[in-house]
Amino acid sequence: MSYCRFSGGSDVYLFGHAGGYFQCCACRLKPNDDFFDNTNTPTIEGALKHLKEHQDVGHKFPAHAVERLQKELAQEYLSVLETKHRPTKGLKKRAKQQAKKFVSETLT
Ligand SMILES: [Zn+2]
Repeated sequence: MSYCRFSGGSDVYLFGHAGGYFQCCACRLKPNDDFFDNTNTPTIEGALKHLKEHQDVGHKFPAHAVERLQKELAQEYLSVLETKHRPTKGLKKRAKQQAKKFVSETLT
């Protein structure tokens, strides 16, 4: 399932690999321009930071890719919070805010 694919609005093809990591397929940040040169990152935070690297060189990617990563990050934060606290509505809100904060600090 991809977050974004190459198109008029996207210079990035990012998807969740079955191997449990994020793959930036045929990453255009790779210097040799090898079509099959991928960038892999194991974490959601890493994937967002990688998008930032693309943004820094002027590459485009759709907002929905970031929104989906942010949602998944909130889920991840929530599961971490739930191991430390009893599940409440407040935790969900906190996880969402944490994810939002990470995204806004990473992608400007
Ligand atoms: Zn890339």
